[in-house]
Amino acid sequence: MSATVLILGGGIAGLTAALYLGARGHAVTVIEQAAKVGGRLCHAPPPLLLEAHHATWSLLNSLGKDAVTRRLRHTPLEFLQSTGARIQFLHLPLPSPLNTLLGTTLFQGLSMRDRWHLLSFLERTWEQDPPLPNDLDLRVADEWLASIGQSESARRGVWNCLARLLLGAALPQVSAGLFMRTLRRCFLTGAKATKLIMPSQGLDSFLLAPLKAQLEAMGVQFRLNTTATQLYFDRDRVARVELADRIRLTADWYISALPRHYLTPLLPERVVTHYAYFQQLSRLSESSLVIVRLYLDQPVEQTQLVLLERHTFHWMIRHPDRELHEEAAVVWAIAVEAPDLLTQSNEALVRLALEDMKAAFPTASAPRLIEADVVRQPQACLTPKPGTQQCRPLPNSPFLNFFVAGAWTDTGWPANLESAILSGQRCAEAIPV
Ligand SMILES: Cc1cc2nc3c(=O)[nH]c(=O)nc-3n(C[C@H](O)[C@H](O)[C@H](O)COP(=O)(O)OP(=O)(O)OC[C@H]3O[C@@H](n4cnc5c(N)ncnc54)[C@H](O)[C@@H]3O)c2cc1C
Repeated sequence: MSATVLILGGGIAGLTAALYLGARGHAVTVIEQAAKVGGRLCHAPPPLLLEAHHATWSLLNSLGKDAVTRRLRHTPLEFLQSTGARIQFLHLPLPSPLNTLLGTTLFQGLSMRDRWHLLSFLERTWEQDPPLPNDLDLRVADEWLASIGQSESARRGVWNCLARLLLGAALPQVSAGLFMRTLRRCFLTGAKATKLIMPSQGLDSFLLAPLKAQLEAMGVQFRLNTTATQLYFDRDRVARVELADRIRLTADWYISALPRHYLTPLLPERVVTHYAYFQQLSRLSESSLVIVRLYLDQPVEQTQLVLLERHTFHWMIRHPDRELHEEAAVVWAIAVEAPDLLTQSNEALVRLALEDMKAAFPTASAPRLIEADVVRQPQACLTPKPGTQQCRPLPNSPFLNFFVAGAWTDTGWPANLESAILSGQRCAEAIPV
């Protein structure tokens, strides 16, 4: 039976929920405070797509974009170490986990000793002897990697770079459990070769525009420039949502697809204090991101991703500019959890990004900067610190008609694109047909 559904938040989590609910014939309305949908994705660099990102592939499939995306070239994972050495993790055309195990054996970014310790650990884990410790979610990844024999230079030069790229925080802030599970899912499971795909089209044209067009065709309603200010509860259900202009909306089902720090102010205090489900949200926190985007007059053929050790920015992406300028390239410089950068001027950040770019993508002649922009997000994504996993909420809240989505909720993934999409999908599935 068709029901009415109100979705608060038009980020990718809310839009995904709207797509799956709209496809089942529900009457869906998305409430979004900004002038356009997309949320944080509007400022994000091209995402790294892995075979293990099943929810993302399934969304791309619904939009008819999966086949063309899968045909894109593999983007190599390249490390620029503090010694100046550039090392690529070899992409071997073998099924997982063979490609990863052989790639690790040949990977010069780790010393022979680190590789040997890692491979013997992987072999033991594979055979579950001994099983992974139960307390991994409470342990720090840095300390745990040291306990399995990874040297300081391996942790700094390789594992820290991967933690920042995949989890959005540095190794000493990351839970060992989430780090280990993410690496295993990304690189050790699945029968297909582990190909890293980074679409060079912006997320707007690659994902958001086709998704919005499909939602409109389904009859999903959007209320843009509309802020939800209060949720009202009646015993075990949500009764209505109040908007900034005092208008009140009711529906059969409600989905919050808001970031954590936007959801809690909408809840009455008695709800937050009474239910552990909401109470534990105060134990979560977010990391910051600073992104500088540079448009340069030297075109490139292929997308490149470089992870940097001991630079201002932690990773850089360079890809052909297929949208704004002809004969140009775009470089994204990204730094996570670097509070000092948040307060720097745009000019200073662009200068620092250009310096790192010279190291990451050396060229015979310096490219001319056509234009640049800067994004500062003090609360960009959930910090995956030890203990976080237990506090991330599942979709079903204690209220029968209220579900919670968002990259930060408990999906088993770090708070990334896959997590946001999966959370929206799960909320949609929780609502009966
Ligand atoms: C700069 C940046 C770079 C990133 N890079 C990557 C990357 O490379 N790879 C990757 O996988 N992930 C990346 N991420 C993470 C990814 O973008 C997010 O995980 C994902 O977009 C979160 O989607 P969401 O729908 O959960 O939340 P959001 O995108 O935050 O959506 C929430 C929406 O709710 C709206 N809203 C908030 N309060 C209200 C209210 N009271 N009423 C109505 N509407 C409201 C907001 O305006 C927003 O549109 C990046 C994030 C940032 C910020």
